[in-house]
Amino acid sequence: MKRILVATNNADKLNEIRVALDGMPFEAVGMKALGIESMPDETGSTFVENAMIKATALFQKAGGYVLADDSGLCVDALGGAPGIYSSRFFGEETSYRQKFAELSRLLTDVPLQERTAHFSCAMVLLRDDAEPIIVEERMDGILLNTEFGKNGFGYDPIFYVPEFGRTAAELTSPEKISVSHRGKAIRSLLKRLSET
Ligand code: IMP
Repeated sequence: MKRILVATNNADKLNEIRVALDGMPFEAVGMKALGIESMPDETGSTFVENAMIKATALFQKAGGYVLADDSGLCVDALGGAPGIYSSRFFGEETSYRQKFAELSRLLTDVPLQERTAHFSCAMVLLRDDAEPIIVEERMDGILLNTEFGKNGFGYDPIFYVPEFGRTAAELTSPEKISVSHRGKAIRSLLKRLSET
């Protein structure tokens, strides 16, 4: 088993990565397990830049194999917003219910068929014995006005996934990871890893 240190404090994200790694010779370990808590500010202007900032900071502390991701929701009718600001959208301290209400307000005049959106996920793997691997993947869907489902996290309850005919919060973890931006990113990354 090779240990991959994942640059996140988010237990949901770590769990999704663990589900994706199931059956592979890699064990995902979160920062908490190593007693590392602080993360640098995400000062980049793209998902890849932010993932690289997080990966580099942790790699400098721990070495080995370090995986960092940066992800967010991009709404076409809002020119790709909130994008890299997804977790801070409509204020850092606001609840997701408040964020959903604000999105719904901004999209009041946008008909359902134009409420296309996607989640993007950039992933960076830094290694002490080889070149970095950088990937970026997406999951397309439609933003709803109403919440459905209790699984997942963040914007999942209002993100309708056409392949399943349900929101991302109505999917089980394995279902979500089979189509999600993060699932696709980790699979691309592992494919690249097995080729190098
Ligand atoms: P990050 O932790 O900097 O990557 O921020 C990602 C933010 O984007 C999260 O806090 C959520 O608001 C949103 N997000 C990213 N991926 C997902 C997902 O799979 N479901 C729901 N929201 C997501």
